[in-house]
Amino acid sequence: MCGIIGVSGVPDAARVAYLGLYALQHRGQESAGIISLTPDGEPRMKVGMGLVSETFDEAELQRLPGDVAVGHTRYSTTGSTILANAQPCLVNYRLGSLSVAHNGNLTNAAEIKRDLVNRGSIFTSSSDTEVLVHLIARSEAPDPELQIRSALERLEGAFSLVIGVGRTLYAVVDPRGFRPLVLGRMGDGIVVASETCALDLVGATVVREMQPGEFVRIVDGVIEDLQPLRARPVSRCVFELIYFARPDSQIFGESVDRVRREAGRRLAMEHPAPGADVVFSVPDSSNAMALGFSEASGIKLEHGLIRNHYVGRTFIHPTQALRVAKVKIKFNPVRGVIAGQRVVVVDDSLVRGTTSRGLVQMIRAAGAREVHLRLASPPITGPCHYGIDTPTREELIASTHSMDEIRDYLGVDTLGYLSLEGMVAAAGGGPFCHACFSGDYPTAVPNEVVQMERPSTLTVSRA
Ligand code: AMP
Repeated sequence: MCGIIGVSGVPDAARVAYLGLYALQHRGQESAGIISLTPDGEPRMKVGMGLVSETFDEAELQRLPGDVAVGHTRYSTTGSTILANAQPCLVNYRLGSLSVAHNGNLTNAAEIKRDLVNRGSIFTSSSDTEVLVHLIARSEAPDPELQIRSALERLEGAFSLVIGVGRTLYAVVDPRGFRPLVLGRMGDGIVVASETCALDLVGATVVREMQPGEFVRIVDGVIEDLQPLRARPVSRCVFELIYFARPDSQIFGESVDRVRREAGRRLAMEHPAPGADVVFSVPDSSNAMALGFSEASGIKLEHGLIRNHYVGRTFIHPTQALRVAKVKIKFNPVRGVIAGQRVVVVDDSLVRGTTSRGLVQMIRAAGAREVHLRLASPPITGPCHYGIDTPTREELIASTHSMDEIRDYLGVDTLGYLSLEGMVAAAGGGPFCHACFSGDYPTAVPNEVVQMERPSTLTVSRA
């Protein structure tokens, strides 16, 4: 998953992008980057591995002048964790500089890449986004709008994009609308970002959320509507609302906080925990869900787990051994809340089960009499091919184990998952992509997706 931002017609645009990327940090922590365009159209770029705070300092920002900028935070879903895959991508082609910041995952990139390579294209990264760059650059259409349109019409899957051609920005959302993108106004300029929380941070006001298939051009702070991409059935990613987006954002026309509270309320109605003494969340992603559960059940809400905020998301770290160790680094139980109590633990989702298993052990060691786990989404049974970093099907506990086996593996007294219908209703009804829960994939998912995951043997340093 990734966070993207574009800034047009705002002085010191790179600094605005930098601040916005702080608010999008939860969408990716592997790399961060900004390209700025000087008034005469000269691009400057800084990308680095790690967090926004690790990549940029005052001196770096001063090396990124101009009133146009494109920024990106990344964690890999295709392509490996190397600097060559960090974004935004920057190339020079026949119409000048081309910068691309991509959120999402292309499902037919491997197929197109093979075709391009056979015809002589050279790739410097293993990221699917480079395929788009090639398609734009190779298009014989006379202007950038048509080049981008013809490239996008060949792509399948998820793409919310900010594309800079010289000083002109283009923003576009794929016709199914998997990933969010929102347009904002800042003084005389425009800021386009993955989530509204980025607009809040920089002091921009929301103009509108971009709709599936919407395509706009932004020049010197003016938004011009272009003909939308060819319509497809809409399938917004429900997991954005359940887990990925920040609760202070508005996406897909919904308040993320409201959706999560409602999911918690419905969870309490579908899977009550009669006789329990306290309910608490696994902070922070399920805070609003635990609140909803408490409201609907009348069970007292407490802070039973304390999270160390100076650790990245454990899921993102590659090896299994590291993930287990990181549970303890990240969470510690509050004994006074837990000892002798029958507790309900609310989490947003269960993926591998590793985190939850470690947490349950800790909660029992802190003296809980009973542990009832409640999950505010259905069992995850399939990988996401559209940009959420879920593991392979074999690693997903709910795809390989029965409910009783999961309960025993986690060591809980009872286990309850929110139903698909309950989740979709809490999220406002859709239409949604819920393929990871239901197996109902909205696009063809070729085996070749796997091939893009192979690391490139060529590692280019651009520090
Ligand atoms: P586990 O117990 O190992 O299955 O991990 C479940 C936890 O991972 C939940 O608390 C979720 O908040 C979190 N989670 C779910 N999906 C993702 C994801 N794609 N990236 C990072 N964390 C996730």
